[in-house]
Amino acid sequence: MLHGVRCSTCGHTSVPPRDICPACGAGELVETTLTGDARVFAATWIPSPFALEGFGADGFAVAWVDLDGGPRVQVLAEGHAPEPGVPGTVHTVVLEPYSLPVFRAEAP
Ligand SMILES: [Zn+2]
Repeated sequence: MLHGVRCSTCGHTSVPPRDICPACGAGELVETTLTGDARVFAATWIPSPFALEGFGADGFAVAWVDLDGGPRVQVLAEGHAPEPGVPGTVHTVVLEPYSLPVFRAEAP
């Protein structure tokens, strides 16, 4: 489950939540939740240790995923960079002191 906001003026959904709609500039936004179901648009592998302990000791993948009912967002991805079109779910992983969205591909 992901938290976001939906613009009352234009209907654009933002994840994570924002104070102002990035599509139209309106400030009347309503909290919403998304399932986290997503499909990979593109991904790449960064051959460098991730900055936070507990994720990507030898490198890490970054993916741009299209959320069902939501926008395209940039997230970390488990394992190596997933191929475009791969379905999966974005969930939240706590890497102190942050909570980060991470994409997990569906099992083939
Ligand atoms: Zn808007």
